[in-house]
Amino acid sequence: MSETAVTKGKLAIYWAASCGGCEISLLGIDTKILDVAEAFDVVFCPCIADGKVRDMEKMQDGEIDVCLFNGGIRTSEQEYMARLMRKKSKVLIAFGSCASEGCIPGLGNLHNRDAIFEDSYQETASTDNPDRVRPQAATRVDEGTLHLPVFYDTLKTLDQTVPVDYYLPGCPPESPRIWEAIEAIVAGKLPPAGSVIGEHTTVCDSCPRTRDEKKIKAFKRTWEVIPDEETCLLEQGLVCCGPATRAGCGALCPAVNSPCIGCYGPNEGVEDYGARLMSALASVIDSEDPEEIDQIIEQGIPDPVGTFYRFSLAASYLRRSKQAVADGNGSSAAAADVR
Ligand code: SF4
Ligand code: SF4
Repeated sequence: MSETAVTKGKLAIYWAASCGGCEISLLGIDTKILDVAEAFDVVFCPCIADGKVRDMEKMQDGEIDVCLFNGGIRTSEQEYMARLMRKKSKVLIAFGSCASEGCIPGLGNLHNRDAIFEDSYQETASTDNPDRVRPQAATRVDEGTLHLPVFYDTLKTLDQTVPVDYYLPGCPPESPRIWEAIEAIVAGKLPPAGSVIGEHTTVCDSCPRTRDEKKIKAFKRTWEVIPDEETCLLEQGLVCCGPATRAGCGALCPAVNSPCIGCYGPNEGVEDYGARLMSALASVIDSEDPEEIDQIIEQGIPDPVGTFYRFSLAASYLRRSKQAVADGNGSSAAAADVR
């Protein structure tokens, strides 16, 4: 890489509503991290260094060459940072599943802020909160007013908040794919703007298991069977998301006898991951009787949202569960967020 890195660029890595796994995966590029350090000055990365927002605010617009932004947008602070990083970065990359499609935090879109707070600050077994204290966006104390970010009803993906240049999928992105993306950035060989940096086939295409278009009469849970190690898991009745999921991991889960759960997101051209997966599963059901089909689905897929939209609910056509009214307790931002 050193031959191509003529001048040192500026790299920022920011996290919003995410778990930190994307940063761990970045460190998984191992000693190549030294090449990253040779090519870039890391000017902002709160996960590993105490950078200040005010330092970022002082930078020129477009001064950062590349920003890897992981995490969805759940709070007003995250929205502010997404807009700030967009402004300061020439290239903004939605880094990982949370930024690209909402991922597990996006499943919070099945509920609203009140329900999430009720669970987190009241109902959990370890919580003792008789006064029903909840985080407040503004609290008066003798010294002045304390502020916390506003927690929105709906988690948004990064590109539902600001324009995004590229997407690097995965929960987390596999380290070799991160390295390939960094090499492409440094060499100036990025694909057209708006692209996913990665492969354009499905997990099935990289899975060595044999498929013979066998139809099934029932879906089974993973704990109900020990699958054989050669045959397609879907054809053994296990819900494997490989047909709808973008390749990039090397079919890691089927390789260890476990179905793909879809962490690499939708394959190229798939607009709604869940709809694509439903269509793939429908094609293996061995029945034309609507009642029997309903029974097969109800018994074998007890958690449809968790199965079809585990990683992609926030980015899907559904985006969130329907809400009759915006809660009356929130800011206008939270109310406007319900859509
Ligand atoms: S459905 Fe799953 S097990 Fe079958 S070929 Fe695709 S990835 Fe492999
Ligand atoms: S097989 Fe599926 S769930 Fe497993 S790592 Fe690959 S994309 Fe993710």
